[in-house]
Formats: sequence, C-alpha cells, structure tokens
Amino acid sequence: MIRMIVAIEGRSHDSRVGDPAGTVSMPPLDPTTLLLALVVVTFSTGVLLLISSRQDRSQTSLALWGVAKLIGAIALALIGLRGVADQSLTVDLANALLLLGHLINFAGVRRFCHRPVSWPWLLAPLVVWLALCQWPAFHASVEWRIAVNSAIMGLITLAGAGTLWKLKGERLVSRYPAIGWLVIHALAFFVRVPIVLIIPMPGINQVTGSPAVTLMLFEALFHATIMAFLQLSMAKDRAENRYRTAAETDVLTGLPNRRAFFERAECGVAHAVSNGRPAAVLVIDIDRFKTINDTFGHAGGDRVLVAVAEAIRAHLRPSDRFGRVGGEEFGCLLTETSQAAAFVVAEGLRHRIANLDIRSDGAPIRVSVSIGVSVIQGRAVTLSQLLDEADTGLYEAKRSGRDRVIAAESGFRRAS
Ligand code: GH3
Ligand code: MG
Ligand code: MG
Repeated sequence: MIRMIVAIEGRSHDSRVGDPAGTVSMPPLDPTTLLLALVVVTFSTGVLLLISSRQDRSQTSLALWGVAKLIGAIALALIGLRGVADQSLTVDLANALLLLGHLINFAGVRRFCHRPVSWPWLLAPLVVWLALCQWPAFHASVEWRIAVNSAIMGLITLAGAGTLWKLKGERLVSRYPAIGWLVIHALAFFVRVPIVLIIPMPGINQVTGSPAVTLMLFEALFHATIMAFLQLSMAKDRAENRYRTAAETDVLTGLPNRRAFFERAECGVAHAVSNGRPAAVLVIDIDRFKTINDTFGHAGGDRVLVAVAEAIRAHLRPSDRFGRVGGEEFGCLLTETSQAAAFVVAEGLRHRIANLDIRSDGAPIRVSVSIGVSVIQGRAVTLSQLLDEADTGLYEAKRSGRDRVIAAESGFRRAS
C-alpha cells in the first residue's frame, strides 16, 4: 500500500514537470486517484459492515459482506501495485482475491435470503479460474484473462440479483434498488468481455492510463458505495421488521396482540364505513377459563389458549383481522361480511372450538366459548362502538348460560 502511494506520488510529480504553467494539474477522474479512492472506500465499507454484524449477530450476511469487501480492498490494493510489485502478486493473487471477494459476497446474499451455502460449490468458480491460470497460453493472454474473469464475476453478480429477486414474504424497501443495481453491475462486467477481446489491450503498465479503465474504476467506486449502503439498508429493514413483528405479536399464541389488532381493525372499520361495505366484529371469550386453570394448572390453560388461537386462525380468512385482546379474550373483524354471514362464521367457530381435542397429561380438556357479534349495518361507527356492542352480546351470552353466539344489534338477537 505504501509502495502504491509512492508510485502515485511519482506519477503526480511527472505531470507537474510537464505542465508549462508550472501549476499542479491533475486530469479529472485520474485512474490512480480513483483506484486509491476505491481501495479506501471498499476497505472502510468492509469495516462498517463488520461493525454492524457485531451489533446484530443474527445477521451473518453482514459479516460475509464485510469480509468480502476487505478481501476486495486487498485485491484492489495489489492491482494498484502493478508495475511496482511482482506480477504474481499484482495480477495472479489480485485476480484470485477479487474473485474470492465476489464469491463470499454471493454467500452473504444467499445467507441473507435464507438459502443454504455450500462452500465447495461456491468456491468452484475460483478453482476453475486457478486451474485455467495454470495453462500458459491463457495466463499469458491479458485479454482472455480479463474476459473470463469478467464473465465469471458478471455471472456471480447476476446470481446474487436472482437470489434477492426470489426472496419472498418480507417487506424490504431496499431490495428492489439492490436487484436493479446488481443487474447493471453484472451488465458492466459482461460488456467488458467482447470489448476486451475486440480492442487490443495496452501494455500491462499502461493499463491504468486507459479511459476504459477509468470508466470501469468509476463504476466500481459507485458500486462499492451504493452496494454497501443497500446491504446495510436491507439488514436494517429486516431488523425493523423483526422488532415490529415482536412488538405486534402475542408471545403465547402467535396471534397479533391487542395493540396490533386495534390498529388493523380500526383501519378495516374506517375503510368499510367510508366505502359503505359490510363488516362484523366478534368478541370471543373462553368460558370458565379460571376453572380450567384451577383444574389443569397454568400450563393446561396456556395449551387451551394456543389451541383456541389456532382454531380462530384456521377458521377465518386471511383478509379478516384478529388478535388476542385480553387474557382469554379474542377480537375479530370480518371484512365484507353481512349480519347473517357473521353469525354463520361465529357459530362455525364455536363448534370448531367445542370439538378441539386438547389434553393435559392425557386427560381431555373440554372448552367452550361465548361470542358477541356486532355489525356495521351501513352506520358511521367506530371500532370502539362495535366492540362495545359485541361486548353487550357477549355479556348476554354469558348471562344466558355460555357456549353460544349472541348478536346484540337492534332487531337481530339470536342465541343458539
Ligand atoms: P367466564 O366464563 O365468565 O368468562 O369466566 P372465566 O373464568 O373465563 O373468566 P375470568 O375473567 O374470571 O378468568 C379469566 C382467567 O384467565 C383469569 C386469569 O388468571 C386467566 N388468564 C389470563 N391470562 C392468562 C394466560 O396467559 N394464561 C393462563 N393460563 N391463564 C390466563
Ligand atoms: Mg372467560
Ligand atoms: Mg374474559
């Protein structure tokens, strides 16, 4: 690295000598400066990714991306020593490390997308590359080396974009820009293949003076910066999703908790009211749950809560909103559901729960629920009003013997 800086200083000094005005004139986007900037940016983003991976140990992809960047920085620094250090370091080792960095980066993408990482398969392109380099004719041809290396790195980059594309079921804002940029970056690699094979390459020591190399370095600098930002951003999106899910989920049953249910159901009610659509609210309460706890212990009670929650989840549609709103109480908002349909759903759920096979130390636990129902019926109501009305139905159900559904709407009162 020190020798590279010496080499750069040597070049700057030469340009000063050739300047008739005697002023220091640096050409814009000087390749040597770009390469030095690229080494510094790649190294620092690698360190940043490693620090972030220490802060959130569940995201191993960050560590892999960080290591990949550090290896890339070493490779680029070696390339910068071209013409100063031995070719086995500045070309052979540098190219191998560059490829290794890309492969480790791809491993990071696979980890991030919850896909298995098979290191023997993953490192196969590097083995192929090293084997090709043992072939003297290939090793002697700068054009073919660049063409093959670019093709391999383009394919690895494209595979990374494809893996990210297939990641489903997670809302990551930065995923699409990352995919888009990876495709562009892969194309930049592929474009190099015909160019380098058609246009003869300058001598090894003039490579850094070529405008094509300047453009390539500029693209690489942009890639190093934007990709590190997108990788950190995707990891941050994932961490935020995880915290949000944890904050909105009831630990015991896995259903949305009271706060999440209220947020989602309020939205659903407002939407139904403003669009004049039907919707119904159910309040489900387990009957004599205290007795279940007293008879089968807290663990037995917990088993009942989990089984009832599972029955609710299985019985309702994904578009319905439901959650555990109290100790042994569940709330549901049935969208696009009329009075009669709500009653049918509630009755079906009551039957389903009554037929659950729940056991504590082999002994069956009989469970029943009472359900209060309320419906919008074209009124400008709020969730809290609907819950109050459903609670009135629930109170009626408890009072009249439990294990029943009662809708306490005016003109609609049914008990089973
Ligand atoms: P009712 O038929 O009138 O609804 O009677 P109930 O016994 O179901 O109602 P009550 O409100 O008297 O009792 C609710 C019980 O639920 C009291 C509380 O200890 C228990 N409980 C609340 N949360 C949990 C929990 O997470 N796990 C268990 N096992 N019990 C819980
Ligand atoms: Mg109860
Ligand atoms: Mg209760």
